[in-house]
Amino acid sequence: MENQEVVLVTGGLGYIGSHTVVELMQKGVEVIVVDDLSNSKIEILDQIEKIVGDRPTFYAFNIGDKDKLTAIFDAHKIQSVVHFAAHLLVDESVEKPLKYYRNNVSNLINLLEVVQFFNCKEFIFSSSCTVYGEPNQLPVNESTPITTPKSPYGATKIMGEQILKDCVYSNAGLSVIALRYFNPVGAHKSGMLGELSQGTPKHLFPIINHSIEEDRPVLIFGDNYDTLDGTPVRDYIHVTDLALAHVSALSKLRNLKNQYRAYNIGTGKGLSVKEIIQAYAEILNKPIKHEILSRRTGDAEKIWADVERAEKELNWKAKNGLKEMILSSLKWEETQKDLFS
Ligand code: UDP
Repeated sequence: MENQEVVLVTGGLGYIGSHTVVELMQKGVEVIVVDDLSNSKIEILDQIEKIVGDRPTFYAFNIGDKDKLTAIFDAHKIQSVVHFAAHLLVDESVEKPLKYYRNNVSNLINLLEVVQFFNCKEFIFSSSCTVYGEPNQLPVNESTPITTPKSPYGATKIMGEQILKDCVYSNAGLSVIALRYFNPVGAHKSGMLGELSQGTPKHLFPIINHSIEEDRPVLIFGDNYDTLDGTPVRDYIHVTDLALAHVSALSKLRNLKNQYRAYNIGTGKGLSVKEIIQAYAEILNKPIKHEILSRRTGDAEKIWADVERAEKELNWKAKNGLKEMILSSLKWEETQKDLFS
């Protein structure tokens, strides 16, 4: 196709990355994926092809390798970069801070040096609501102060945003959109793509799925928070809605001239852990066993997004409800069993 848009997606075989690759390809964008497979599997590439009917160009390496990155920018006329490649586990970041600073900060700088060398002007950064820490006011909007990070992971997201802002101010050509994700859940509606559990699931929805499957209670980390039922509140967003926010952000970047803009990407609604468990019970029409444990270190009490800026400026809005989130998540568990058992 002539003048086809070419987008480099780092971490494009990861959970949010792979869903974004699908949405971009289905809109006719030529996608180049770089992923070091540290938190994915090569089978995800086949799954993308099954959904889209086409395969993105794929390179397996870590973006810390500047020579390989340079070769890719030499080989393809890359118009924009969507940068997902990063480590994402809060607990692990506390144990191994240098691993997080190396990959999430040093390698971002590496990537940006190549981006600037090739005069690429459009960059989307995966940020997180973790930058707001424990907010004083809810919902949080993009002017809510960025606070002291609660973990090295959170620190890398705050630093990443700062580095990008400074690059925008110093480089007349570059524009950056930071998307501050709330809690991504669910899976592609086909059931063919989702979050890999890689042994032990790390997040609430896959943990509930596995607990149900293995007839074990869901362990709730604390019920003495200042929330409606005492359990922590989050803004859960369907991963496809999140992927579509990147498509909208790319269109928006075309109209930005040397600007930095951050957007909250959530539904605008907070739900407690008990409310999620209750929704599972209603959908599956059976009680879900659960037990109360003490609080998990580093957990925020409650956070949900003010999404007005994204709705107005990106012309984007989350469409999927909790039912779609739960059903797609359960469907993906079945696919994972078939793919990896
Ligand atoms: N959670 C829980 N039990 C679990 C896993 C998570 O009670 O086994 C709670 C956790 O305390 C938090 C919410 O579920 O309030 C979402 O946790 P998750 O790890 O999915 O995302 P986070 O908000 O920590 O990034």
